[in-house]
Amino acid sequence: MTAPALDLHDSDASQVLRRVFGYDEFREGQGEIIEHVVAGGDALVLMPTGGGKSLCYQIPALVRRGTGVVVSPLIALMQDQVDALRALGVRADFLNSSLDYDQQRVVEATFRAGELDLLYLAPERLRLESTQKLLDGGDIALFAIDEAHCVSQWGHDFRPDYLALSALHERWPDVPRIALTATATPATHQEIAGRLRLEDARHFVASFDRPNIQYRITPKTEPRRQLLELLRTEHAGDAGIVYCLSRSSVEKIAEFLVANGIPALPYHAGLDAGTRAANQARFLREDGVVIVATIAFGMGIDKPDVRFVAHLDLPKSVEGYYQETGRAGRDGLPSTAWLAYGLQDVVQLRKLVETSDGDDAHRRRQGRHLDSMLALCETVECRRVQLLAYFGQEGKPCGNCDTCLTPPESWDGTIAAQKVLSAVYRLDRERRQRFGAGHVIDILMGKKTPKVIQFDHDELTVFGVGADLSANEWRGVVRQLLARGLLAVEPDHGTLALTDGSASVLRREREVLMRREPERTPKAKLAKAAKAAAAELPEEAAPVFEKLRAWRAASAKEQGVPPYVVFHDKTLREIATVRPSSLEELSTVNGVGENKLAKYGQQILDTLAE
Ligand code: ADP
Ligand code: ZN
Repeated sequence: MTAPALDLHDSDASQVLRRVFGYDEFREGQGEIIEHVVAGGDALVLMPTGGGKSLCYQIPALVRRGTGVVVSPLIALMQDQVDALRALGVRADFLNSSLDYDQQRVVEATFRAGELDLLYLAPERLRLESTQKLLDGGDIALFAIDEAHCVSQWGHDFRPDYLALSALHERWPDVPRIALTATATPATHQEIAGRLRLEDARHFVASFDRPNIQYRITPKTEPRRQLLELLRTEHAGDAGIVYCLSRSSVEKIAEFLVANGIPALPYHAGLDAGTRAANQARFLREDGVVIVATIAFGMGIDKPDVRFVAHLDLPKSVEGYYQETGRAGRDGLPSTAWLAYGLQDVVQLRKLVETSDGDDAHRRRQGRHLDSMLALCETVECRRVQLLAYFGQEGKPCGNCDTCLTPPESWDGTIAAQKVLSAVYRLDRERRQRFGAGHVIDILMGKKTPKVIQFDHDELTVFGVGADLSANEWRGVVRQLLARGLLAVEPDHGTLALTDGSASVLRREREVLMRREPERTPKAKLAKAAKAAAAELPEEAAPVFEKLRAWRAASAKEQGVPPYVVFHDKTLREIATVRPSSLEELSTVNGVGENKLAKYGQQILDTLAE
């Protein structure tokens, strides 16, 4: 299938934006970056997911002479990327291990003939001398290095083949290089620049804020019920991702959702490749599918209409949390990032860090990552401000996170903290046996459980001193002490132990302010805020939108591409609201470029006329 070539001769960047992509304006940063690369400059681009990184190399590739060579680790997604470009009339193709010999030959010949605007390559392929020879035989407009954080050895996505990309500018010194990533603490940023030899490149750092994502972190009480309530009350019929830590919980949660009438599919590294590919394809191609996954799922998934990302387990770092939640709402429409976390998560992850492989420095680094994540969970300030601060950026209280919408109450938990710590101290002195959080809470609440009786713990002075708080509130106290390092988890048995910080609390040298545990998440206000944001679509436009969606589903199916390759939700919403009556009017809608106008324009008008 060759795409019909648009004649872009002499078009400048803004004309290409309008004619090919159907957009009127560049987003923040895009214009400058594109101008710089079109002029032949090297660039390192840090932009959040959904910020619009692809245009930053696609437009220069179209404006400059020759083929833009895109290095990407995401072989499984290349076909979709290429399909999406072809739907716009761009001549794109890819070379990776999924092609047979003859198919490769065809792509290579097209490249040599100068008939490709964009060529996607896996990094391991670019290392081959044969590939480099091929590139020498053609005209290269630029090199784009996507997911550039894969060059970072400390990140979780390290790909050794990325290290070799530093040699690109030795072999092709005149070809501009643009590296792009959505992962970037200041340290990762420096590492990428160094390893890709981009020190002299211009660095473009966009704001990492994702204003359309509503961040919510809620205490985990009954995770399944909480998840189901979220999906039923706020995200019925929506596509979304549910992240779990283990393969077995992925399987169980997927089954649970299916049993409750929600179209959910599992995804984890233990499934065979065929099942994984099939589940991913259904998530991308059908409307309203929920994927339940370990973090093995998601990098490079550019489905624009993921309406929610739910975490049922605590992510190990803020960076991971930001990456995973960032997969929601690429299309800019209101979306939810929801995390339920509880005492067990803290205990489990602390233990995991303590017993992890690697040297002390590695463990300390992991410990710091976890501390930052816990601080984000326990904050009484705006989540977004804290999240941005982690990336070295400033923000204002956002009005679109749980702490802004329902400010948490804080209370003086010093005495409660002392009760917990002295109970742990008394138990620790026994040395005979170690006890976990549940047992400590039973003692404080004065419960005569078999274990309490067996060890005569009803005779301890702390027995029953905590009848003023509920078990749930005590779990909150223990969790917050662990989160702040005022209490520790023994790696061997997962039991509680005192830390250096504990002593100062026991000696009343410091106050401990705690976040109050809601007995039930107050969600009326949140739901109202989410609805207000989603209410962009006027009431009378809703049935028209559904009609257009049905037309899109049929058209996508016929062509074997994901629906968003035909049109994004955002474009369909605008069409449903504006109801254009001519092709000319339709062409002014965002996301309707020349190629799509020619291909679908009449069908859209017919659908609207019905
Ligand atoms: P990233 O790769 O940074 O995650 P994408 O390049 O996939 O982001 O872009 C995210 C979404 O924003 C896509 O749906 C894209 O079509 C859209 N988009 C990008 N640039 C613009 C623009 N200038 N105007 C309108 N929509 C845009
Ligand atoms: Zn906020």
